[in-house]
Amino acid sequence: MAENEKLECLKKLQDVLQEKFALEQQVETLPKELRREEAMLRTVEKEFADLQKLASDTVDEVKSLSIRYEDAFQVRTGYEKQMEFLNTQREYEALSKQLEEARANEETLLKQRNSKTKESEKLKNQVIAKEEEVANQKAKVDEEQAKVDTELSGINEKIAELDRACLEIKGNAISDELYEKFSNIVRKKNGLGVVPVHGQVCMGCDRVLPVQFVIDLRLKQENNEIDYCPYCSRIIWYDQLDPETEKNYIFEQLESKGTGSESKVSSASSGSQQDSDSYDESMGMDDGFDDF
Ligand SMILES: [Zn+2]
Repeated sequence: MAENEKLECLKKLQDVLQEKFALEQQVETLPKELRREEAMLRTVEKEFADLQKLASDTVDEVKSLSIRYEDAFQVRTGYEKQMEFLNTQREYEALSKQLEEARANEETLLKQRNSKTKESEKLKNQVIAKEEEVANQKAKVDEEQAKVDTELSGINEKIAELDRACLEIKGNAISDELYEKFSNIVRKKNGLGVVPVHGQVCMGCDRVLPVQFVIDLRLKQENNEIDYCPYCSRIIWYDQLDPETEKNYIFEQLESKGTGSESKVSSASSGSQQDSDSYDESMGMDDGFDDF
């Protein structure tokens, strides 16, 4: 069979495109760690702001309790002075009761003030610690950002290199239109845009092609033309096998094994990939090629 220049170009292109798309995938996933660190920074900053608010509220509460304690202190000492100038037993009993209450009130406020002061000190330390945490997290984000920038520029350089390699391979053998179309197929079909036909079976989707279709395909191939699998839309080429092996891939043989022309022939296609049909459907590709 004569060499089909287009096909040979496409096979070479496929290798380069596979590499390029793998790199593009990396560009997509690379900033994941950075996004994670950025989200963490937002969380820590929020915690810092909440803590600052709580610390400031607590300082206000300490101030308020201090004033109330001072007042209670004045009330109690006032009663104690009055005790010195009492005349009757009745007055003494009444004032004693007031004094007792004033002492209890003063004591309670003192306890509350002291406890709130301790809490306030603790919060101040927590604020300092959280501020440090924010600074550390910021540094992490900056570091990750720098790392991503460096890696991205490296990957983008490689992608540009592969683009140039593609254009070089493409040359005049392949039209811009076919190049675009083929790139899309390779991208959507997980790296496999040009696949062999064994006997009557497309090695991309494992489906059996009509006899006449394969005869036409072989003719086109001789004339430096290409064709597409009507089932999976990949570019296909007839791959001449030795007659014994090829027998396993022709319709009569497949049918005698109980498989129709529309069904999969996994028994005959040990060399092809897993479950291409369900994969194609999941990509929504089988009937989506009209716009090419
Ligand atoms: Zn196919």
